[in-house]
Amino acid sequence: MGKITGFLEYQKLSEAAEDRELRKKHYREFVLHLSDEEAKIQGARCMDCGTPFCISGCPINNIIPDWNDLVWKQDWQRAIDTLHSTNNFPEFTGRVCPAPCEEACVLRINADPVGIKSIEHAIIDKAWESGWVIPQPAAQRSGKKVAVAGSGPAGLACAQQLARAGHAVTVFEKNDRMGGLLRYGIPDFKMEKWLIDRRIEQMQAEGVEFKVNHVIGAAPVGAGNRQAQPVDAKKLLADYDAVVLAGGAEAPRDLQVPGRDLEGVHFAMDFLPLQNRRVAGDQNVEDLWASGKHVVIIGGGDTGSDCVGTSNRHGAKSVTQFELLDKPEDVSFNRVWPYWPIRLRTSSSHEEGAERDWAVGTKAFIGEGGKVKRLRTAKLDWKSGKPVEVLGSEREMPADLVLLAMGFVSPVQSVLEAFGVEKDARGNAKATTDGKGCYATSVPKVFTAGDMRRGQSLVVWAIREGRQCARAVDEFLMGFSELPR
Ligand SMILES: Cc1cc2nc3c(=O)[nH]c(=O)nc-3n(C[C@H](O)[C@H](O)[C@H](O)COP(=O)(O)OP(=O)(O)OC[C@H]3O[C@@H](n4cnc5c(N)ncnc54)[C@H](O)[C@@H]3O)c2cc1C
Ligand code: SF4
Repeated sequence: MGKITGFLEYQKLSEAAEDRELRKKHYREFVLHLSDEEAKIQGARCMDCGTPFCISGCPINNIIPDWNDLVWKQDWQRAIDTLHSTNNFPEFTGRVCPAPCEEACVLRINADPVGIKSIEHAIIDKAWESGWVIPQPAAQRSGKKVAVAGSGPAGLACAQQLARAGHAVTVFEKNDRMGGLLRYGIPDFKMEKWLIDRRIEQMQAEGVEFKVNHVIGAAPVGAGNRQAQPVDAKKLLADYDAVVLAGGAEAPRDLQVPGRDLEGVHFAMDFLPLQNRRVAGDQNVEDLWASGKHVVIIGGGDTGSDCVGTSNRHGAKSVTQFELLDKPEDVSFNRVWPYWPIRLRTSSSHEEGAERDWAVGTKAFIGEGGKVKRLRTAKLDWKSGKPVEVLGSEREMPADLVLLAMGFVSPVQSVLEAFGVEKDARGNAKATTDGKGCYATSVPKVFTAGDMRRGQSLVVWAIREGRQCARAVDEFLMGFSELPR
């Protein structure tokens, strides 16, 4: 522990962010990492608890107190080594993680938690700037070949770990660029995409082969994979010693109410990736804009919030976001600590401007000339535990663009069916995460990780599963594994 009285002396420092009106004019990141001195002071707030709940609150069990202390001592190189020992991609989590570690921090009981995420962000950015993040190719090759289907955080973490264990890894991605939802989904203003390219280069230097525009099994063609060529599941099984399915949970939840087929009613994921493509400089991107429109976003989560930020940047006339559930009440923190509290969360996109309402049900989309023009809603009463329409609460509001951001129900089933893997009750690829045979599907030598196994989740969980799955594959191939779990 660096400074024994640090938590008494210093306050939590937020990262600086560009002015709301200015940042709405572009798609670049607008959050700045802490300076060395600020990060040092933030690290000094850590109490180096006997039982560091931050570590158990973090899905990848980052060794947080150690790097807090190292940053306090300004030993940045050891700090990044410690951070990398549990997390392949801190530059992703340091930007987009909701930081369950901070909710679990002991200091959080009666003060602001240690700004763990901001310290992580500062460490990894400094490490890259200082040239400390270099390829770590395996000293020996195993002669084994592994195919990874999907290049989201789960597939990438799995591939990097396996390559470092000496296996020849090929990542197949149906889209034209690597990164999964980090690339096509999460807006550039939350995470710029050159960060992914830089990691891909590192992984290539470690021996990972990347194949874009390759669709494993029979996945449907979407916005990102028009030119994808099919790769037969049987051939993949014949050509590789193990296959990892890390295709994410891409089947969106729909809202089948009257008017669903009107022009202007879209899934969020028909909208967000187009903006990622425009920022990437792609030509002939589909013409779907929020500019000058009354935009209504149905769904109160992360994806909905990303639609808010993107619509504001397009110059929407108005932006409204509805959530089906009740507005969360602020609970006494001690009642839930160290677990993740359900409470009202206001993202940086919300701060940029949006009408938000809760307990709202959508009854119909109303159109003119085949195009959506209005939305009919009603308030819902959740007191009985089920939604009951509040009589007399029906109303109509203008809507030229409706974005459905109600989450994802499961992976695309055709991919799982192409391999014949058993599914769980929710349609995810079935595999356990503990014990012998973990991450293995019902089909010999086929493994699975990330959203494809656990259902829609978070980047940090995908990294965890990718790492743990890599160890399971390594054990399967070699009979033992020295990869960390
Ligand atoms: C709009 C949006 C915003 C989000 N924001 C956040 C956030 O701020 N913080 C956070 O922690 N989480 C966020 N999430 C969730 C997070 O992005 C996911 O949980 C995470 O990316 C899952 O990682 P994954 O590797 O399992 O799958 P994905 O990232 O979905 O990657 C799967 C990849 O597999 C490819 N693929 C699928 N099928 C095939 C096939 N048959 N052949 C070849 N390739 C295939 C897909 O094209 C895709 O590239 C967000 C999600 C969305 C949709
Ligand atoms: S719980 Fe908070 S104060 Fe305790 S070790 Fe972790 S970061 Fe430091």
